[in-house]
Amino acid sequence: MASLTPKLESFRRIVVKVGSSLLVDSDKGAIRQEWLSALAEDLSSRAKDGVELIIVSSGAIALGRTVLKLPRGALRLEESQAAAAIGQIALARTWAETLARFHLTAGQVLLTLGDTEERRRYLNARSTIAKLLELGAVPIINENDTVATTEIRYGDNDRLGARVATMCSADLLVLLSDIDGLYDRPPGDGVDAKLIPVVARVSTEIEAMAGDAGSELSRGGMRTKIEAAKIATAAGTHMVIASGRELHPLRRIAEGKPCTWFLTPANPVTSRKKWIAGSLEPKGAIHLDAGAVAALRRGKSLLPAGVTRVDGSFARGDAVILRGPDGAEIARGLVAYDREDAVRLVGQNSERIEDILGYRGRSEMIHRDDLVMAGE
Ligand code: GLU
Repeated sequence: MASLTPKLESFRRIVVKVGSSLLVDSDKGAIRQEWLSALAEDLSSRAKDGVELIIVSSGAIALGRTVLKLPRGALRLEESQAAAAIGQIALARTWAETLARFHLTAGQVLLTLGDTEERRRYLNARSTIAKLLELGAVPIINENDTVATTEIRYGDNDRLGARVATMCSADLLVLLSDIDGLYDRPPGDGVDAKLIPVVARVSTEIEAMAGDAGSELSRGGMRTKIEAAKIATAAGTHMVIASGRELHPLRRIAEGKPCTWFLTPANPVTSRKKWIAGSLEPKGAIHLDAGAVAALRRGKSLLPAGVTRVDGSFARGDAVILRGPDGAEIARGLVAYDREDAVRLVGQNSERIEDILGYRGRSEMIHRDDLVMAGE
């Protein structure tokens, strides 16, 4: 098994996601400074080797709720937003001060889901992060919790980390949390649960192994980590889940301490395809006949003639799921038509597009370059 495990030293652009329960002592509501300093030391040793580092840090709500003396347990949306507004200041300052002690410069970037999903905003966020890296700084990223609405209720930093990793074409995503990896059954479910060191592909069996384990402060249990693994590996980014309970969590990964690696096939997809595959909220679905499915598998574009039905409400350029006759997802892609026009083109020959729509649209419903096959 050990020979299948990648070497931490071999990665050049690493996203490290740090969970709230590691950063914040839940009893005191204070930063676990000794732990953070040890992590910063690990980061600086990677940086000295020329590795580019991006941090996705939780902890704003956990820090802010103590200051506001909010009760334990679930918070209402407005309370979370208020807590994040207060906690994010301390969180960013702590990162800046701690990294500075190791001669690293931190830059705060707050994102919402739209920043990683909408093409225009995605390009903005990506180029800001790229510039920070070029200037030798370490982007410290969190969700913009104070203004996020749906996101703050359903969002979690595991998936945010995966989106950031694929958006930035990182070759590794490290998820540090209070869990040291994926077990073959949910922890606490049986005494002899075994840690899985390497996951070559996120299969349905692997998904079934994820329980709902989550600690009080972190939103993400194993389920969101598996979701993150799917996003990351689909986009050519390796992922590792490792425990951050001990000091020097990155060094421990390098030393081969227990953790779970999620591997991705050797050929990385292009950055555009990474974004398409990682876009988690498709705006609709396009149903295909068997002929179209076969054509897609041969590397062809999707033509209107092979479409049997469209669902959802999408605009030109949105991500949609492509489903075969049995309803199974076979691909994702960026659709070339608004829903209204797509509906009118269902089953039609491409030569008739101008007659039907009154303008010369693209002959493909989804061009090959805008298409990512499931598992690709
Ligand atoms: N963005 C949240 C915070 O900083 C954390 C979300 C999560 O832990 O997944 O408090």
